[in-house]
Amino acid sequence: MPAAVLAATVELHRPSLTHTLDPVAVRHNDRIVLLGDADHPVRAGQGVSMALEDALVLARSPGTQTSVPAALSAYDAARSERVARMAKAAGNRDSRTAGPLGR
Ligand SMILES: Cc1cc2nc3c(=O)[nH]c(=O)nc-3n(C[C@H](O)[C@H](O)[C@H](O)COP(=O)(O)OP(=O)(O)OC[C@H]3O[C@@H](n4cnc5c(N)ncnc54)[C@H](O)[C@@H]3O)c2cc1C
Repeated sequence: MPAAVLAATVELHRPSLTHTLDPVAVRHNDRIVLLGDADHPVRAGQGVSMALEDALVLARSPGTQTSVPAALSAYDAARSERVARMAKAAGNRDSRTAGPLGR
């Protein structure tokens, strides 16, 4: 079986510590929500600030909602656009490599 999988492989991605997984379809349920590195790629070079933003938005959410499920849902809705934007910027780290002038 492993040999068949290898034989059927058409493209190889170089393994990397910062490999970004495909977006997940379910990011929260009534008791749990993804945040921090569990929710967005570390490759963007914004991991700590994104985790802190997540924490602040999550901490405020129960005060604006009537239940925990509603608070988690509101948190996810509030963060999803920014998280999606950061996912697209996941190559940001490369853009910080000094060019000829910077060097
Ligand atoms: C080498 C390196 C350099 C980095 N440099 C930068 C940088 O310069 N700037 C930047 O912004 N970001 C940087 N990051 C990324 C940044 O560290 C992360 O994005 C950030 O720490 C994410 O915070 P978090 O709270 O989501 O996760 P974490 O900080 O990983 O916290 C998760 C916590 O959960 C705990 N845990 C895991 N499983 C369980 C369990 N089953 N039960 C209980 N606890 C559990 C872990 O022990 C950990 O303490 C770097 C990361 C690495 C690895």
